[in-house]
Amino acid sequence: MDKPLLAGLRIVAMTHIIAEPCIGTKDSSCVDVCPVDCIHPTKDEADFQEAELLYIDPETCIDCGLCVDECPVQAIFPEEDLPEEWQHYLKVNTEWYQKQA
Ligand code: SF4
Ligand code: SF4
Repeated sequence: MDKPLLAGLRIVAMTHIIAEPCIGTKDSSCVDVCPVDCIHPTKDEADFQEAELLYIDPETCIDCGLCVDECPVQAIFPEEDLPEEWQHYLKVNTEWYQKQA
């Protein structure tokens, strides 16, 4: 019997990632434009002051790209365009949400 048409396809969820330039800037411009509120901590959340940078929840990000142009220091990248030297920020963003769970 033939396999279902989609059996061989791999569904890959993509995300955007906040990298090093956010450190020391953290102005929250990206938070204001995200349609699914997946960038945290926000200014009114308790851990905002101690957070080194803001983080994007890869499970919730819909990859719309709206946050990219809002960032004054070009800290946000689609996963596929994340510069080599900042590849570890995918883990940094993801782990912040795992710690909140
Ligand atoms: S790409 Fe869209 S959904 Fe993802 S963090 Fe940016 S604004 Fe939010
Ligand atoms: S807009 Fe850029 S610098 Fe500002 S909080 Fe978002 S990622 Fe950080």
